[in-house]
Amino acid sequence: MIKTINLQKIFKTEEVETWALNNVSIEVKQGEFVAIMGPSGCGKSTLLNILGLLDNPTGGEYYLNGTEVSRYTESQRTSLRKGVIGFVFQSFNLIDELNVYENIELPLLYMGISASERKKRVEAAMGRMAITHRSKHFPQQLSGGQQQRVAIARAVVANPKLILADEPTGNLDSKSTIEIMNILKDLHKSGRTVIIITHDDEIANQVDRVVRIMDGKIVSDSVNP
Ligand code: ADP
Repeated sequence: MIKTINLQKIFKTEEVETWALNNVSIEVKQGEFVAIMGPSGCGKSTLLNILGLLDNPTGGEYYLNGTEVSRYTESQRTSLRKGVIGFVFQSFNLIDELNVYENIELPLLYMGISASERKKRVEAAMGRMAITHRSKHFPQQLSGGQQQRVAIARAVVANPKLILADEPTGNLDSKSTIEIMNILKDLHKSGRTVIIITHDDEIANQVDRVVRIMDGKIVSDSVNP
């Protein structure tokens, strides 16, 4: 599903050149549940953003389902993402002016899905995330855990095979963390590939495989017993 070879990302400003990723080669198979760990600033989000086609690497290769995508333009990346990748942000990234239903419906609107099909899929996603009773509420009327459930519903409503989540429990209390992890585990059990960033060893213990990064390089890659 995912394969990178010597992925590099260099951020250049007037004074400094940061090697956020320094020759990262990683392979993730369909159906794996992977946690990416490492100290703040080591390159985790940079890697996830590139895997999620939100950004391009400076060098190296990225094969997504066998296609080399590392030099795709922004519009090519946007169209490839649709229905293929669901991205969940630590800060939820919901649109304040839209209610729960409308936030979740958004990817389907972008894909040009018919109104009746949209309704069916949004209702199914809300049911699955146990937020149907909040469908008319706006993000600021919801708890952090509820907002993250909406964000996950939005990420999965188009039925992507790949779910990427950047510290999905980073802003949540322990009860919501357990709920969100149970949702991600269910998505994994239903055959999806799930890659998350976490700082939490307890979360890392619950996934198949843990990849550790330091200074833009993979320093360990181990399968959980
Ligand atoms: P992590 O997610 O592990 O905390 P990041 O991937 O966000 O780390 O950042 C890796 C390094 O790249 C850091 O040194 C960070 O400051 C730098 N960096 C990230 N994004 C940018 C950017 N847009 N411009 C310049 N430097 C950046």
